[in-house]
Amino acid sequence: MLQMSDGRMEGSNQLAASYIMDGAGIDDKTSQFRHDVRSDGGLDQGIWSSSEGASKIDMRKQIFCNRSLNMKNIVAVGFDMDYTLAQYMPETFESLAYNGTIKKLVYDLGYPPELLDWSFDWKYMVRGLVLDKKRGNILKMDRHKYVKVAYHGFSVMSKEDKITTYGNTLLREAFDEPDYALIDTLFSLAEAYLFAQLVDFKDSNPGKVPNNADYSRMYKDVRAAVDLCHRDGTLKQMVAKDPKKYINEDPSIVPMFKMLRDSGRATFLVTNSLWDYTNVVMNFLCCGRTLDGSPCNHDWLENFDVVITGSSKPSFFHEDNRANLFEVEPESGMLLNTDNGTPYPQMGNTSPILPSKGLKKGCRVFQGGSVGHLHKLLSIESSSQVLYVGDHIYGDILRSKKVLGWRTMLVVPELEREVELLWEYRDTRKELRLLRKERDLIEDKIHHLQWSLKFGGVNPEEKLKFSSKLKELESQREEVRLHHQQTQRNCHQKFHKVWGQLMKTGYQNSRFAHQVERFACLYTSQVTNLSLYSPDKYYRPSEDFMPHEFDILAI
Ligand code: IMP
Ligand code: MG
Repeated sequence: MLQMSDGRMEGSNQLAASYIMDGAGIDDKTSQFRHDVRSDGGLDQGIWSSSEGASKIDMRKQIFCNRSLNMKNIVAVGFDMDYTLAQYMPETFESLAYNGTIKKLVYDLGYPPELLDWSFDWKYMVRGLVLDKKRGNILKMDRHKYVKVAYHGFSVMSKEDKITTYGNTLLREAFDEPDYALIDTLFSLAEAYLFAQLVDFKDSNPGKVPNNADYSRMYKDVRAAVDLCHRDGTLKQMVAKDPKKYINEDPSIVPMFKMLRDSGRATFLVTNSLWDYTNVVMNFLCCGRTLDGSPCNHDWLENFDVVITGSSKPSFFHEDNRANLFEVEPESGMLLNTDNGTPYPQMGNTSPILPSKGLKKGCRVFQGGSVGHLHKLLSIESSSQVLYVGDHIYGDILRSKKVLGWRTMLVVPELEREVELLWEYRDTRKELRLLRKERDLIEDKIHHLQWSLKFGGVNPEEKLKFSSKLKELESQREEVRLHHQQTQRNCHQKFHKVWGQLMKTGYQNSRFAHQVERFACLYTSQVTNLSLYSPDKYYRPSEDFMPHEFDILAI
C-alpha cells in the first residue's frame, strides 16, 4: 500500500489503495460488465450477487466505508432526490441556472447588460471550494483549514498574498458563514463561477457595478438571484418540459428499490423539492415518462413507503422542529392537514379527499413535517436503523448523522473520475512518495551536518569537508524539492486544471475529504451502486493507521 510521509495512506481511502495494489483495479472490465445494467434496463441475474462476491466490483462503482455499517440492522433506507437519485447534467442544468441568474441580475438588480454575453464554463468550479465573500477570493483548503490554493476572481494569488491574507496562525478563521460561502453542492457551481466573473468585472470596471457594490454585496445579489431561479420556476419548468435534456437516465434505479424492498426494508424519499416537481422527476427516473410523452402517473410511488416533499432539510432533522406535516393528495396536489399523521380536512372543506383511499398501503405522500413524523410513519424505534442517502454534506448528511444518529451514505459523482485517475497515475503517486522520503532524508543529513559544524568541535579540515558536503546536500534538496513540486503540480492538474484532486490538497486530505470522512458512514459515486452489494452486507472500514503504526507493517 502507499504511505504518506506522516504515515497516513495515500489516497482518500485506504480501501481504494489496497484494492489498487491488489491488482484488481479498473482494468478488470470483465467484472465491471458482469455487474452492469443490461441495455434493456434489466440487471444481470442476481443483481448484487456473483460467484466472486463483491470484491471485483469496478472501483468506480464501489461503496467506500468510513464507519462500520451492518445493513442487517437497517430497517429503512431513505433517499434524497435532487443530485442523488436524479443526476443532473451540469452542462445543461447548471447552464440553465447560470443564464437564469444573469438575467435576474441584469433585469431585476440593475447589473449592466454586457453580463448577458458572458458564458459559463461548467467544468471550472468544483465542490469543496470556499468563497471569501468580502475579499472576492475562491479558496481550496486542507483538512486543517489551511488555504492551499487561492484565486482572486480568476487570478491566482501569489504565495505571499495568500500567506499575508490567510496565513496568520494566531487568527485561525472558521471559514464559515456569514463571511464565507461553502460550495458544498453541485447546485452551487454556477453561482461560484458567476461570483468569480463579477469580481474580475468589478476590478476592471469599477464604476459599472450597481451602487458600486462591494464583493459581499455582489455575492448576496448572485445568491438571491440563484435562489429565485430555484423558486420561481425558471429551472423547474424547463426541466419539467424536457427532463431528458437535464437528467441522466438510470435504468438501475427501480431494480435497486425493488431489491431493497424485497429484502424487507422500508424505503422513503425526503426531498426539498415540492410535490409537482418531485412527481415529474420521479416519473422520468422510474418510468422514463415525460410531460410531452405519456402523462405522469403515480406508479413510481410503489417504490416507497413514505414520500416527504418540501422537507426543508436540514431543519427537517432537528428533533425540536415543530413544522407542520401536510398530506399531499397526489392527483390534485392538494394539501391536507394532519394530526399525528392522520389527515383531517382543511377548514371549510365539507367534502375532504381522503388521500390514502385508493392508494396502496405504504404509498403516502407528505409535505413538510420533521423527522419525528417520519419515524412515526415508518415505526422506527431507533434512529440507527435508518440509512439515508444524499448528496449534500450539510443538507443531507451532517445533521442527520451528527444530531440524529441516522446512518448515512454520500453520493459523490466526481468520485468515479477521481478513482479512475488515481489508478492511472498510481506510478506517479508512488514516485511522489519516494521523493518525499528522499527529501526528508536529505534534510535530516543537512541538519546533522549543520549541528556538527556549530557544536561538534570539528577541526578546520573537517570543517572544510562538512561545508562542501553541506553545499552539495543543499543543492540536492533543492533539486528534489523542485522535482516533487512540479510532479505534484502536474499530477493534480490531471485531476483538475485549476483545483487539482477533489479529495486532496498537496498530499493531505482536502477539507471536503475531511468532511466526507467525518460525516458519511459510506460514500460512493452513484446511488445505484447500492444494488451491486448484498442488501445484508456488513460494510467495514479498512484498518486505521496512526503514523507510528505503518512503518512496522510496511517492513
Ligand atoms: P433535494 O436535494 O432532493 O432535497 O432537493 C433540493 C431542492 O432544493 C431542489 O428542488 C432544488 O431546486 C432546490 N434548491 C437548490 N438550491 C436552491 C437555492 O439556492 N434556493 C432554493 N432552492 C434551492
Ligand atoms: Mg440533493
